[in-house]
Amino acid sequence: MLYIGESLLNGDSALRLNELLGVIAHELGHWRLHHLVLTYLAVEAGLLGLVLATYLLRYFHPLYTVFGYSSKSNGPWLPTRFLIVSFCLFIALGEFYAPLLLLLARHTEYQADAHAASLGYAKSLCSALVKMQNGTFLVMDPLFKVLLLQSPIPG
Ligand SMILES: [Zn+2]
Repeated sequence: MLYIGESLLNGDSALRLNELLGVIAHELGHWRLHHLVLTYLAVEAGLLGLVLATYLLRYFHPLYTVFGYSSKSNGPWLPTRFLIVSFCLFIALGEFYAPLLLLLARHTEYQADAHAASLGYAKSLCSALVKMQNGTFLVMDPLFKVLLLQSPIPG
């Protein structure tokens, strides 16, 4: 399903027909190259890794002493162990995995752009992206752009 917002069709930043076709060609590139499935599998792989690491570290006692359990005790109840370990891993590994997912997202965006360009919509997609960016991120920190944006900012 492809949703085209009314702001793309009307108003000051409305897209011309060739620009709209460029955007549609980009989105069709995502579909043709199975980016949704790829992203889903990447997220699921991360979650599977989290579950596996949680299972493997369930008896890693130094982790529980941080939460106030005595080093001489048997540690917390097993479900509590899973909660503590998965919580810690989710935060710690998320710091490393989230940028990898962002890299994947950027890669798929470039591929979708290349798909639109291969159909002859390179210039119209560029001008559409410039129009769509105008007024959305007026002030943007360069570090924010590098770390958090999936698509490159044209211009
Ligand atoms: Zn895209």
